[in-house]
Amino acid sequence: MKSIGEKCAVFGIYGKGLDVSRLTFFGLYALQHRGQESSGIASTDGKEIFCHKNAGLVAQVFNEETIKGLPGHIAVGHNRYSTSSGSGIKHAQPVEVEDKSIVLAHNGNLPSVIQLASFLKSRGVVLSNVSDSAMITGALHVLVKEGMEIEKAVEEIFPLMTGSFSILIMTKEKLIALRDSFGIRPLSIARLNGGYVFASETCAFHPIGATYMREVNPGEMVVVDENGLKIKQIAERTQKLDIFEFVYFSRPDSNLLGKSVYGVRKNFGIQLAKEYKINADVVIPVPETAIPVAVGYANASGIPFEMGLIKSRYIHRTFIEPEQHIRDQGVKLKLAPLKEIIENKRVIVIDDSIVRGTTSRQIVKMLFEVGAKEVHFLVSSPPVKFPDFYGIDLPNQGELLAANKTIEEINTHLGSTSLRYLSYEGMIKSTGLDESLFCTSCFTGQYPVDLRERKREVVYLNQAHKAHRYGKI
Ligand code: AMP
Repeated sequence: MKSIGEKCAVFGIYGKGLDVSRLTFFGLYALQHRGQESSGIASTDGKEIFCHKNAGLVAQVFNEETIKGLPGHIAVGHNRYSTSSGSGIKHAQPVEVEDKSIVLAHNGNLPSVIQLASFLKSRGVVLSNVSDSAMITGALHVLVKEGMEIEKAVEEIFPLMTGSFSILIMTKEKLIALRDSFGIRPLSIARLNGGYVFASETCAFHPIGATYMREVNPGEMVVVDENGLKIKQIAERTQKLDIFEFVYFSRPDSNLLGKSVYGVRKNFGIQLAKEYKINADVVIPVPETAIPVAVGYANASGIPFEMGLIKSRYIHRTFIEPEQHIRDQGVKLKLAPLKEIIENKRVIVIDDSIVRGTTSRQIVKMLFEVGAKEVHFLVSSPPVKFPDFYGIDLPNQGELLAANKTIEEINTHLGSTSLRYLSYEGMIKSTGLDESLFCTSCFTGQYPVDLRERKREVVYLNQAHKAHRYGKI
């Protein structure tokens, strides 16, 4: 089955007397960067579950009227990320079951759904062409319909879920948060006026005035109902946060594993400056993610920082597909070079990652077009050589530039004067945390959750290629 869970945002709130759907709207707004394809909120007043979801950005999906149509004291919300594998309203979350007794919002992906499928089959449930998230919801529903308490059902189904998941489940009485035993995708808890809030990233707490408590630990189930908050460790915990959260996904004002994302990205830049000394006139970031990296690089190297590329704030991946002529403009729809900064300069340009190389190639071309003398491309992560199965939409290995080319070949492909990647060791060191706390699969090919039937999609490198693995040439 093709994955359709993918990199997304979840947000949930339990609070008597709070306008929970409006707060969820603002929470999802703060998490918009994690998914721009569709958005949804479900709420309950204890008697009924209400849900509104549609394709588009949070601000396009909700208005005063739709928020008013979501009453109650519990709510869950979801932003879905745009992927090649199925788009539009069909896959918008929260997932609902037909009798509207359970809704579920999922960030992550299950590479293997064989166990869930055989469980459902054993109960006579046939769910064809549905997402991994819908299968989890369906499995929970089967057990609840048989009379099991929802918490018990979660514990029963947990071992059948092979992959990454930060999940929020809502019934008419309870809000449940659940994180896979490796904690691959983030999830945190906060307090608000006697109630509790859950969010993929801590940046969603500040706008609604919630106070951060802690992360939901890997393998933990947190239940909130009228009796308050209950925490249960339901599986052995081995923290393996996806390091790509620090590299690319998370907002700089979020904290992960107690570290500021901004601070870690700045360290990436400082580390890059230690690893590579380049004679250049100006250092510019590819906005937004690489801005703190370029600040760190500029501070450490003494080369002036400039915003040489300006990003349009309002271009997103939305359900409005640009027509072919406009799509051919590619990166120019998003980024404009500032000639007065770049012309006749030796430019260092920094981006967070190279995946297919489409963006970086166009950026190099654009910088030369406005008169750069040299373009030195720096990347604040090591080469991405392995596909992702845990919800970050990295393409199959055949499309990953660094899986198929050496660094010299990539440099030639991009047309840059030079190309340097942050070393693997340098990336880990910059986090200030131990390597064992991370899932680094897209760089190392080491996958903490067994890929089962998807294993055959990964090709490991021969010794000659391994020499290039950590970005040294
Ligand atoms: P590419 O053009 O395919 O090499 O993609 C690299 C660019 O996409 C970089 O500018 C990254 O900031 C960004 N990026 C990295 N990973 C992802 C992802 N999973 N989804 C969307 N964009 C990404």
